[in-house]
Amino acid sequence: MPFTELGLVPELARAVAEQGYETPTPIQMRAIPAVIAGRDVLAGAQTGTGKTAAFVLPVLQALAQAPAGRAPRALVLTPTRELAAQVAESARQYGRHTKTRVFVVFGGVSINPQIDSLRDGCDLLVATPGRLLDLAGQRAVDLREVRHFVLDEADRMLDMGFMPAIRQVLKLLPQRRQNLMFSATYSDDIRDLATRLLRDPVTVEVAPRNATADRVDQRAYRVPKEHKRHLLAHLVRAGDWHQVLVFTRTKHGANRLAQQLAAAGIATAAIHGNKSQNARVRALAEFKTGKITALVATEVAARGLDIKELPFVVNYELPNVPEDYVHRIGRTARAGGTGCAISLVAPDEAGLLKDIERVLRRSVPVAATPEFAITAEQRPSPGPPHAAPARISHPKHPATRLKTAGSDSGRREASGPGNDRGPRGGRQRPSGRSFGSHGGRRFSSSRS
Ligand code: AMP
Repeated sequence: MPFTELGLVPELARAVAEQGYETPTPIQMRAIPAVIAGRDVLAGAQTGTGKTAAFVLPVLQALAQAPAGRAPRALVLTPTRELAAQVAESARQYGRHTKTRVFVVFGGVSINPQIDSLRDGCDLLVATPGRLLDLAGQRAVDLREVRHFVLDEADRMLDMGFMPAIRQVLKLLPQRRQNLMFSATYSDDIRDLATRLLRDPVTVEVAPRNATADRVDQRAYRVPKEHKRHLLAHLVRAGDWHQVLVFTRTKHGANRLAQQLAAAGIATAAIHGNKSQNARVRALAEFKTGKITALVATEVAARGLDIKELPFVVNYELPNVPEDYVHRIGRTARAGGTGCAISLVAPDEAGLLKDIERVLRRSVPVAATPEFAITAEQRPSPGPPHAAPARISHPKHPATRLKTAGSDSGRREASGPGNDRGPRGGRQRPSGRSFGSHGGRRFSSSRS
């Protein structure tokens, strides 16, 4: 079915054509006509399915056909700033031939410019819940004109504890409005919320939760925790990877790994909630343009990131919640493409892998761990005080054949993190494939 049959006004159809979209994705095919018809929609779809256009296009259409005022007539709530920025950017692109004023507000940046901009008038407001409530509390935004309300990534909102904030926001909205709710997963809480929020919704379940997962080449390597970073550095170099999104469980872990990869000569940045908004935006932009090779992210920061044709995702640590694995690997194999997701599984993570396989209803093949070098930075002396000693064998993991890196050849100090962008490293190619020849780099002891 071509886009022209979805009933979009010419201004939107033109913008869609300019984006290069030829046919609607399944969710767009089903949701767009339902939203245009004024129905509430409950959609089970994760990032990568084209869900943003599925709600943005028909909402823009409704806005274009009704008189504008100063207050927003459509509100999209998202769990993270990155997702809010992306949704707003998409809405601006799709709405470029309409007069729709799209505005985005999120926390972590100064509130005053947002207050000023809202005063100028806004039709479609994209917001994270906390900042929206702050603005409403200061009477900087009036939500009584909202006729279209979108809850994006509702499951993540609940995971992040936004339920009370969502309730508060709902109190500020008028009774008569259209509600659209998107969620990648369905828990009892999501069902409850849907029952309370939606009136006789059209339910659209495009991709069963694991459809994306099926297109991803998934692999697990068993590796002791303290050797993971060496294996990762090896995979990046040996595979000549140019773009890899790496997930860690904690912000601290993301920072540390980014430093370690940078020290191993891989251009790396970390994004997580403690980074300034500017630092996150910059890191993402540099990752997209190929200036950095590895982006190390926590679950929450990476949520909803739209990176076209991302070839590699690495689970440096397995997530505690199996559904998060599906979200994570969904960052690759977007819009019908294929991708590769690699999990580094330490002995104490074996149970987590089993849980994931239960949710996926398939096994994640465990591949023989390639031979990799333990670089000198891990040696007890003169490395950092917390460094673990290098090991050359690991009886519990016979597949892991390890060699320590050559001692001094090519040894050089890594530059420490100079700003909140995190550590950087120029891409260093190993001189050959013989393991050990590229090792020997270590952290500077002046590293903070
Ligand atoms: P989303 O699921 O909204 O994050 O969208 C995932 C990606 O698919 C984005 O990069 C969109 O630009 C792209 N996309 C959305 N709709 C289409 C379409 N109909 N055809 C091709 N690409 C699309």
